[in-house]
Amino acid sequence: MSQSNRPTELHIGIDDTDSKLGGCTTYTAAVIFDELSKRGFRPADFPWLVRLNPNIPWKTRGNGALALHFLVDESRVDVVRKIVLDIVEETTDTSNASTDPAVALLRGKIPPELRYFSMTALHDVLRVSDAKRVARKVGVEQHVLKGPRGLIGALAAIGAQFQTAHTFEIIAYRTQGCVGTRRQIDDDSVREMDAKFRGVTFNNLDPETGRVLISPHGPDPVLFGIRGEDPVTLAQAYHHVRVGEPIQRVMIFKTNHGTDAHLTEHREAAELRPYQSAVVSGRVETRPRALKGGHVVFSLRDESGSVDCAAYEPTGPFRKAVMELAPDDAVSAFGGVRDGPEERSTINLEKLVVNRLAQVVRYQKPRCGRCDRLCESMGQGQGFRCRKCGLRFPRDSLVPVVQNRGIRETVYVPPPRANRHLTMPLSRYGWRKDTQRLDGFSDSQHASYFESLLRSVRSASPL
Ligand SMILES: [Zn+2]
Repeated sequence: MSQSNRPTELHIGIDDTDSKLGGCTTYTAAVIFDELSKRGFRPADFPWLVRLNPNIPWKTRGNGALALHFLVDESRVDVVRKIVLDIVEETTDTSNASTDPAVALLRGKIPPELRYFSMTALHDVLRVSDAKRVARKVGVEQHVLKGPRGLIGALAAIGAQFQTAHTFEIIAYRTQGCVGTRRQIDDDSVREMDAKFRGVTFNNLDPETGRVLISPHGPDPVLFGIRGEDPVTLAQAYHHVRVGEPIQRVMIFKTNHGTDAHLTEHREAAELRPYQSAVVSGRVETRPRALKGGHVVFSLRDESGSVDCAAYEPTGPFRKAVMELAPDDAVSAFGGVRDGPEERSTINLEKLVVNRLAQVVRYQKPRCGRCDRLCESMGQGQGFRCRKCGLRFPRDSLVPVVQNRGIRETVYVPPPRANRHLTMPLSRYGWRKDTQRLDGFSDSQHASYFESLLRSVRSASPL
């Protein structure tokens, strides 16, 4: 093969295709991936499912975008482009006013500008003009079916930084005839799968309620998805789930699920802006209080100012931990920023790290030295007197007692059922991953490994 015929890395970013089957950009990406593979194009990596800032109110809570990576001969780029755009159009419900599907194509290495753009899309608010500027600068080809808003996600997906932290998700899709009906999944088989693969998969069940979390509700084409640390284990876990309906296709995505990728930006309380994802470290300023509806709020102060931190009712036991905070505790608050009352910002807590607990001291009335009985107060500003023998003790004889705290210096996160896709579940803490094995675009062994893995998943799937 001559130098000029070496295949080009072609990166395809896709965002915001509400599919006719009910809305899922991952489905569009899976169809494109399968079609390109079938036509003989070689994937350079798993398809990427990239979650972006979950605190953008005009995006869905999932705020996911996708990127596909193929090695393509320059002469065949046009063929790929046509396949991609045709499938995006076919699978998109353009009648939905809130859908702004977009495709971005980039040839060659992923430039640092795009990496930076993607990082910003994880924890801040970007405008379409920001996306257009970076697209022009790095030579990204843009395709927009309706409005241009999907460009932000399409670009950010290509620039995702998966070198340091990533996980995988295996997703099974339903056939068109089943979409909208009750999903036929054997919950017991999910519990067995969870027991067998606990530690290498995550968020299969809600630990408190035992509820199965791997399948969504509503009319989208996803039958179920299992999240975990490596694709081989996920392929095994997948076969443990018993289903009572046909599976249209199955795909393994490389993702930033469960990595806390959006909670890395340390900010000062005074500089917070709405819809950012942020980390603020400081001292607890006010004792937490429970509001109507079960929400818990406390105020946190750093050197720049102060911010309210709120744990909402669905976060369950997480609120109990927050309630145990006391003034002067040193904590880091992680979460999305909202405008609160009186021009104060509020952080909707997604995670709380207790860095140092303050000593909480309560003062007790003294005991009588003669009868060992608890003394009584003689009134405001007065001393104490033994009820039995009448012996008196001065005002300053109160006994300081250090209180036990119902909270520890550790990490607190809401239960999986209240988590964002990006939130790192407790079960992943301390996980150290060998990221070398599956990364790197030029590794042809990797590509063939991936193809054989997908083949093995499919050959054993119920269809
Ligand atoms: Zn006494």
